[in-house]
Amino acid sequence: MTIALDLASANRPAPTPSLAGMTREELRSALIDAGLVEEKKAKMRAEQLWRWIYHHGVTDFDAMTNVSKDLRAALETRFTLDRPRVVERLVSVDGTRKYLIELAPGVECETVFIPSVGRSGALCVSSQVGCTLNCTFCHTGTQPLVRNLTAAEIVAQVMIARDDIGEWPSTNEDRQITNIVFMGMGEPLYNLDHVAKSIDIISDGEGIQIGRRRITVSTSGVVPKIVELGERTGTMLAISLHATNDPLRDELVPLNKKYPIAELMDAIRAYPDLSNARRVTFEYVMLKGVNDSLAEAKALVRLLKGIPSKINLIPFNPWPNSPYECSDWDTIEAFAEVVNRAGYASPIRTPRGRDIFAACGQLRSESKKVSAAERRKAERAVAG
Ligand code: SAH
Ligand code: SF4
Repeated sequence: MTIALDLASANRPAPTPSLAGMTREELRSALIDAGLVEEKKAKMRAEQLWRWIYHHGVTDFDAMTNVSKDLRAALETRFTLDRPRVVERLVSVDGTRKYLIELAPGVECETVFIPSVGRSGALCVSSQVGCTLNCTFCHTGTQPLVRNLTAAEIVAQVMIARDDIGEWPSTNEDRQITNIVFMGMGEPLYNLDHVAKSIDIISDGEGIQIGRRRITVSTSGVVPKIVELGERTGTMLAISLHATNDPLRDELVPLNKKYPIAELMDAIRAYPDLSNARRVTFEYVMLKGVNDSLAEAKALVRLLKGIPSKINLIPFNPWPNSPYECSDWDTIEAFAEVVNRAGYASPIRTPRGRDIFAACGQLRSESKKVSAAERRKAERAVAG
């Protein structure tokens, strides 16, 4: 069986590379290496392509009207503008959209668009397929790491959502995807090189134009990379805290055994440019009888003292055979009140897209482990 698969892949012709997802420098090199453009003109040509790809979002070389017909034809023979294939697109009753994207045969990630009230909305992107960490409340954590996403694959998630929602060119005033959150599958700080590179592309003012202050990277607490994230990307920081003492956090977020709360807090305090206008978001999943007491709400307030913060209370989203229940609504509200009274904004995150399994922590691609039909059956059982 293995031998048959190996032979099949050896015989398959290499796919035509897509320019969508490349940096300016990669575009320039691709043009030179393909022998399509002289070196001294390559920078200018790359700039033209950049505008068509990331400002206009074109998927056809023929749309590039300031590129000569001959060059367009030559580009067509060597490259594509394809995005990875969307294998499943689901729209929730609340407008949330979930895309299951095939990055390579058997390698899939999920991307979720969460429209907000008003005109803004957030796109939740994945940085890895699976995750090496095993937070006990998270569905992604039950999927072993398949691999890191490349920068191009992260950018492609944004382009796919824009294609679907119809938001090109980037100057479109009715844009709904106004914010990007790295809160999909995976731990972004374990893939920081690609994450940082993707942010350079997404935030570029001549391209997709989603500013760095509108991009939030969420981490479960990879302490040695937190300051580096700020220095390299200038994005907003979110921390998945979920507990206020080490024994409980060790259990919920096992990475805490390596980087305990005190070290995590020190790294957060050192995050560049923190201010009241630029706060850290603390995510706190509400688990019934586990971390939702008023004493814990008070401990949370004490822990965050002196850090410009907002607290995002996330009602636990169940998944098949998950070992927790969501706290009662009254309990969540009482918890929020303690935090609010201490002067912190503490919105309770309304669960979005639960019916299509797109809510926080529910993402998990099968990547060949279980058939899609089996997964959908399990999901229907939980969504009830
Ligand atoms: N790995 C990163 C980013 C992805 S997780 C991190 O852990 O921060 C995005 C957010 O969803 C995190 O705050 C995570 O703790 C939360 N989450 C995970 N599983 C959840 C669940 N079942 N219900 C609610 N939130 C969950
Ligand atoms: Fe990985 Fe984040 Fe899920 Fe933890 S919460 S298992 S770090 S994706």
